[in-house]
Amino acid sequence: MIDVINLEKSFGDNKVLNGINITIDKGDIMVVIGPSGSGKSTFLRCLNCMEDPTGGQIIFNGVDIADPKVDINIHRRHMGMVFQHFNLYNNKTVIQNIMLAPVYVRCQDLKKAKRHNLLLPVTNLFRKEKQTKQEITTTKSEIIAEAHAKAEELLKRIGLEDKADVYPSTLSGGQKQRVAIVRALAMNPDVILFDEPTSALDPEMVGEVLDLMKALADEGMTMIIVTHEMGFAREVANKVVFIDDGQILESGTPEEFFGNPKNPRLKDFLSKVL
Ligand code: ADP
Ligand code: MG
Repeated sequence: MIDVINLEKSFGDNKVLNGINITIDKGDIMVVIGPSGSGKSTFLRCLNCMEDPTGGQIIFNGVDIADPKVDINIHRRHMGMVFQHFNLYNNKTVIQNIMLAPVYVRCQDLKKAKRHNLLLPVTNLFRKEKQTKQEITTTKSEIIAEAHAKAEELLKRIGLEDKADVYPSTLSGGQKQRVAIVRALAMNPDVILFDEPTSALDPEMVGEVLDLMKALADEGMTMIIVTHEMGFAREVANKVVFIDDGQILESGTPEEFFGNPKNPRLKDFLSKVL
């Protein structure tokens, strides 16, 4: 699904990613670990086109999204992102947070289709399996109604249906992060990127977020997760990679990775965190 080839990213003279090579297959649960400042967030941000790489390629579904000529918005909508600090819109209600991107994207598509008098293209987010074009019979209010129904279903899934109309500030950290995860799901993404999703949570709330992530993994969602939760990595991941100084120094199955680490820096890192 994603082929990262010699990915490089510099900020001025600071070379943060120094030739990352990795393949992510559909259904992979890839956990990324490494010391603070090693480039983990920058790596995820490059995958999601939030940073422009300074070298290399990111082939996502056959297209090099590191190429500045590519329309990243088309690809970004197929990638969800979950942040350490949730990044919910505090001036929007919970359900508005979940509906915002799907409604925006579909209304943009609708506008474009109407302007060009085209058939509505592929992007019916809720019926992805139907890749056929359809006539423009959709209206904005239908898009909103559909997104609302989907958002309610997602809130029900995480047991927060009664929180639909409250503002995020009234939620606990664990609730905020679960809302952020289903907000990513609302776009029906091919892959979800998680950047330390439990690092900002009180310890008693870590479990509910990891349980939701584990459920997504069991359903076959492709996930790339930066985390310090080694138990989760062992239990849920099928690939674990160690990044240090902007390079992948070791990667393997959890059994190989934790049972028989080879790189001295990984051994040292594991001795400190395990
Ligand atoms: P990690 O997530 O592994 O802790 P980051 O990817 O956040 O590491 O950061 C790696 C390095 O890149 C750090 O030295 C950081 O200061 C630098 N860096 C990250 N983002 C920026 C930016 N926007 N501008 C300049 N330097 C940055
Ligand atoms: Mg980081």
